[in-house]
Amino acid sequence: MELYVGVDVGATYIRIGVVDGKGEVIYRVKHTYPLNANEYTVSSLIISFYKEVTNKYGKIQGLGIGAIGPLDLGSGNIVNTPNAPVKNHILAKPIVNSLKIPVYLVNDAVASAWGEYIFFYRKNIENLVYITISSGIGGGAIVDSNLLIGKDGNAHEIGHIVVDYTGQYRCGCGGLGHWEGIASGSRIVSNFNRFIHGKKVPKQMADRYKIKMPEEIFKLYRENDPIALEFIDNVILRSCTAGIASVANVYDPEIIVVGGSVATSNWDIFKKYIDDNIDKYLIVGRPKIEKTHFGDNVGVVGAAALAVETPVKVKKYSELYMRRYL
Ligand SMILES: [Zn+2]
Repeated sequence: MELYVGVDVGATYIRIGVVDGKGEVIYRVKHTYPLNANEYTVSSLIISFYKEVTNKYGKIQGLGIGAIGPLDLGSGNIVNTPNAPVKNHILAKPIVNSLKIPVYLVNDAVASAWGEYIFFYRKNIENLVYITISSGIGGGAIVDSNLLIGKDGNAHEIGHIVVDYTGQYRCGCGGLGHWEGIASGSRIVSNFNRFIHGKKVPKQMADRYKIKMPEEIFKLYRENDPIALEFIDNVILRSCTAGIASVANVYDPEIIVVGGSVATSNWDIFKKYIDDNIDKYLIVGRPKIEKTHFGDNVGVVGAAALAVETPVKVKKYSELYMRRYL
């Protein structure tokens, strides 16, 4: 059996797994950032994992990384990322130097788009967009069967689409009215607190709205709490629907695949609102909108997919790293 290593460098978790040639995860670990994390922490975790699984399984066919952006693909680094505890990560250089293998690196959501495409959808379609709604919001697009990358690897920083130009909600990047600044997992709780500040909540009800996690707000929503209903519908789901429609209008995909814990944990709620409202914002033919097939593993599977079948542009960068860092 051919085995690959896929790495999903997120803002909250670093997931690393061994994946077979069909997209099945054989083994996986999930790290959080240690307190003393620095720009080499992630590459060190990847190097030790690779050595560990080479001992355990024998030959590994390739290594792919899907990472939070923004990226500088020329150097193989993450530069000034807004939501993770460490802002800059040096990835390609230490890995190539230590393991002496090619490194295939793209944005995490771009990798996920590639994984969904080559393992699931390719037989039937040529245009696919993947959107993650998690700690951050990101996307990846395949247009006419080509994976789009951009000049530095940042072709779809879709989380920073302005979905509310009157916006009072500020994004982690500093911008106003950005989709990610409104609806991402890292903002939902603080935005809810801000929202509730403008409501007259009776004192005896105040404890009900002391919220620490996004899931608690969705729980209130399911209990038909009027404030949670208004916040989730009018702030979170409306901005997500506008964002998804904007992405559809730009790329004209046959399918939009949605992943990320915020959306997938509440997919019934997201799916219903989007289905009921997206036509208001669309100019292109309505795409199918589905949840990822790979759940929490989508980033790992997508990263491994880069090594299973390497897109031309990704291969070019991996060759550049070999020349520069080996
Ligand atoms: Zn932003």
